[in-house]
Amino acid sequence: MIPTKHICTACNYIYDEILGDAKAKILPGTKFANLASDWQCPGCGQNKELFVTCTCVSISKHQEESCVKNAYLDSLNIIV
Ligand SMILES: [Zn+2]
Repeated sequence: MIPTKHICTACNYIYDEILGDAKAKILPGTKFANLASDWQCPGCGQNKELFVTCTCVSISKHQEESCVKNAYLDSLNIIV
């Protein structure tokens, strides 16, 4: 399984399975699916349902931004 990232559609926080979530004591390598159901977005406090999968592999800032944009457009169901 390739580690994936998930983006909060409310605040664009990115949960990276490689990094985990240090603030919530989520260990690096923790799958998004394995996060507790009461885990909340560190950015805005929303729950997991608001996150969408991000398919970016690299962590470069530019790609992260375009990934956020694509995820946002996906959530709106707009075809570019
Ligand atoms: Zn958020």
